[in-house]
This record gives sequence, C-alpha cells and structure tokens, in this order.
Amino acid sequence: MSEQRLGDVIDDHCIKCRRLTNHSIVSVVAGQAAKVRCRTCYHDHDYRHEIAPPSKKELKRMELEAQAAEAQSALEAQGGQPPTPSVEAEEAPKAKSEHA
Ligand SMILES: [Zn+2]
Repeated sequence: MSEQRLGDVIDDHCIKCRRLTNHSIVSVVAGQAAKVRCRTCYHDHDYRHEIAPPSKKELKRMELEAQAAEAQSALEAQGGQPPTPSVEAEEAPKAKSEHA
C-alpha cells in the first residue's frame, strides 16, 4: 500500500452524490485517507474505502437480524434447550391422572 497524502485525488462513495466520485484527501491518519472531500459537491466526510453506506432498508434488515440473534442467544442462555412445548403437553395429563 502506498501512502496517501493530503490533496491526493481518490475514488470514494459520496453520500450526497450517491455514487462513486473523485475525492480530495483532506485528512490523513497513519498514511491512510481519513477524511475526503467530494470533488463534485465539495461535501466532506470520512473516507469510506469506496463502500456505499448501508441503505435504510439494509439497516432495518441488519437490526432485525441482530434482534433475532439476540433472542437466539438469550434462549441458549436459558439452559441451552430450545422450547419444547410438546414435552410439557405429554407430561401434564400423566401428572393429573396420578393425582386422581
Ligand atoms: Zn458529492
């Protein structure tokens, strides 16, 4: 990787232009672009490594997936057994008949 310097023009995804545009580097950290300025609309933003930010739809999906993963890990934390209502249904009548 060659070092990037202030003023270098690189490609990045501009959130305002919503596409890949030329950007000037306005901030460099450890030889890598940290902040860039779109050469089309002059909007400054963190260098995104040419990756488009997730859309609202994708954010929503990621949120749902995170919630599902959380629910799954919460289930596993409760003894590591998946819910088995069929076992309870089998045992309930037996217990009743023993009492009667
Ligand atoms: Zn732009």
